[in-house]
Amino acid sequence: MIVPENKEKSQFTLDEFGLIKKYFAPLAKPNSAHVDISLGDDCSVFAFANDERLAVSVDTLVTGVHFPEQALPHQIATRAIAVSLSDLAAMGARPCGITIALTMPVIDNDWLEGFSRGLAQSLAHYAVPLVGGDTTCGPLCISVQVMGALPKDQALTRSGAKPGDLVFVSGTLGDGAAALACLSSAHRCLEKDYFEDKFYRPVARIALGQALLAVANAGIDISDGLLADAGHIANSSSVAIELREESLPLSLAAKSHTSAKTLQQWALTGGDDYELCFCVSPERQEQVQKISESLDVRLTKVGDVRSGEGVHCIDSSGQIIKIKTGGYQHFS
Ligand code: ADP
Ligand code: MG
Repeated sequence: MIVPENKEKSQFTLDEFGLIKKYFAPLAKPNSAHVDISLGDDCSVFAFANDERLAVSVDTLVTGVHFPEQALPHQIATRAIAVSLSDLAAMGARPCGITIALTMPVIDNDWLEGFSRGLAQSLAHYAVPLVGGDTTCGPLCISVQVMGALPKDQALTRSGAKPGDLVFVSGTLGDGAAALACLSSAHRCLEKDYFEDKFYRPVARIALGQALLAVANAGIDISDGLLADAGHIANSSSVAIELREESLPLSLAAKSHTSAKTLQQWALTGGDDYELCFCVSPERQEQVQKISESLDVRLTKVGDVRSGEGVHCIDSSGQIIKIKTGGYQHFS
């Protein structure tokens, strides 16, 4: 996430999650026979009289905050679709359709041509149809609502982790933050193509999420940084999570881009990785290995679930690592 240079401190003391808790969570008590899972997870889930459930989520991308102002329209489109679908992946849902609310300052045909080209590529890649949306005039802002199907009683939620579970992550961590540093740098970055791809075409781990439905006890997508997102699992599941710093999977590109210390910080708190973090009981470790092989996706054990609360990251000498921040939060 890009922090605008002129960002003023919020007038009030609430942060992003504090304001949701105060103003919106009280309104979101399941008050309909159709709400299975309400506010507080990666998607809300609706139940109907059949064997499947509807998972819904919406994400907004604001220019200068979620992508640099000079981003190309097709890049904005591919990023918007992937980061929104990532919440369906986190729940193990199968994408069924998306709607897009587009706010833009002027009608620019070249921009719209590029944006719709990027959309077409992503919709084809994830085999999901665009089914509606809204178009308004104002500062550039894109909201993508995603809808997906889940088998009855099988959502991969944040709240099922148990002491003794193993904690895994997919792919590599820190690439999202490294990509932003690379793309914002005035200097030539050798891994620019790799990072451009990571930033504008992150992979929503749809197949992995679905495969984990029958295997994992809890899951989340890493949008705000591993510490913060593992923290959501810890809170929702009333457990502690212990991460091992030496286990964090890092890409060669990120390693060659920055120091080990900075990359450690990026991997833990940088965000924008859109990998999945999930917890499985030890007897299911072999199944995780099989999923990794069949989907050809790197799955790395990064820690353990314990009783207690919070997330701690331990270095190779067993010391708790002190980290500056706990992930990106709007308004903080
Ligand atoms: P994610 O990072 O998975 O997109 P967020 O951290 O943005 O999720 O949101 C945390 C939870 O709070 C989610 O369950 C989301 O649906 C809910 N939420 C966020 N903003 C609002 C809002 N303005 N009104 C109602 N619920 C909200
Ligand atoms: Mg999420």
